[in-house]
Formats: sequence, C-alpha cells, structure tokens
Amino acid sequence: MKFLPGETVQLTGKFLRNTGQITGREGMSRWIVQACDCGLCRTGSFVCTNERKSAESLRGYTEAELAAHPSLYLRHINAGNLKHYGKPSVRDC
Ligand SMILES: [Zn+2]
Repeated sequence: MKFLPGETVQLTGKFLRNTGQITGREGMSRWIVQACDCGLCRTGSFVCTNERKSAESLRGYTEAELAAHPSLYLRHINAGNLKHYGKPSVRDC
C-alpha cells in the first residue's frame, strides 16, 4: 500500500487490536502524510506524519542533526500499520 503526501491515514484495526489500543487515543488519531526523503520513507517502509515528536523522543539527536533534517521532528509510523483514513482495508482483519 502506497501513501502519498497530503493523504490522511490512520492505524489499522489489526494493529490496534494486536497492541491493545483499540479503545485508546491512537485509534482515534489521524495523520496527514508529509513529504520526506529520509532513508525510512524512501524505502516506503515508514510514513512521515504531521505529528510532532515529544521532546523526550528527540533527545537522541543533536541540534545540528535536527537542523539538517527537519523531518526528524515528525513522527514516523511503520507503513504496514497504516491505511487510508475511512476506507475499509484488509489490514483491519
Ligand atoms: Zn521520513
């Protein structure tokens, strides 16, 4: 499944069930896919979202790294756990 910048995505029902999050905040979350040319996104294995990472999860990066790669500020989600928002998917089963 391919996700393009500007598309709205959500976590799949399957992923939410498998991780015990079916009633939690993650199940309600929607993200807008961002254009990103990092190594993870280039392979298509991850999707860059519009959610800003917590300060906690940015701690591993230096100021210089963040300045050079602004997409490091944004949460990346495994593409295998996402589907297009509002569309039924085999990934829900
Ligand atoms: Zn990326």
